[in-house]
This record gives sequence, structure tokens and C-alpha cells, in this order.
Amino acid sequence: MKAKILLVEDNEQNRYLATFLLEKHGFTVIHAPDGPTGLDLAGRERFDLILLDIHLPRMDGHAVARALRSNPALAAVPIVAVTSYVMAGDREKILAAGCDGYLEKPINPETFVAEIESFLRTPGKAGAP
Ligand code: MN
Repeated sequence: MKAKILLVEDNEQNRYLATFLLEKHGFTVIHAPDGPTGLDLAGRERFDLILLDIHLPRMDGHAVARALRSNPALAAVPIVAVTSYVMAGDREKILAAGCDGYLEKPINPETFVAEIESFLRTPGKAGAP
């Protein structure tokens, strides 16, 4: 059975593209438009991976990642940040918040699903440099 993914994303176009690509490959995608909704869903349903936009209304992705990581039940669920703002220090900030890694926007349809699958094969932080 293919993985179930929580997509926390406020941008309609990114949401559409990520969902389209993942569903085409057999994944189940559940969408949350903001952090609080994502946290609520993550607390109630079981997900194999959480895709987390960093630039979100109400609560940014770093705060969402920290809140997700404060729940021991979610400790083994990979969190992958999606952001267009990867500058010096951002990678460290994303990893320090509890994410396992990140993908840069714009989403590349050629590599997106393979990158998600690589995070599913190596859950947790064991592989982080
Ligand atoms: Mn956004």
C-alpha cells in the first residue's frame, strides 16, 4: 500500500501540483491550508510523511515542525519542508526545527516524487549529515 501524506500548504498552485504528482503515483494526499489545521490532522490521523510549506499564514513552518516534534507519537514521521527561501543558514534552521530535509520550490515535476520516496525509505534523522 502506498504512503499517506499530509500536505501543509497555503498556495493553491503548489497544492494542486504536489497533489497531482503524488496521487498519480498512488499516494494518498490529505491537505491542510495552514499550520494549526495540519497539527490537528497530524494528531488525529496516521501519516507516513508530512510535507510542510515554510511560508504559511498564522504559524510559520518552523513553528509547525517544532510543534509536530513535541508530540512523541509523531517522532518517527518524516517531515520534509518545501520552501523557496533557501539561503545561508536556512537549511540549519529547517533541520533545527525538526525537519528531516527540504525540497526547493518551484516543485520539479521530474524529481519530486522520487525525492519524496527517498525520505520514506529513510525515516527519522538517522541519515541526516
Ligand atoms: Mn506558502
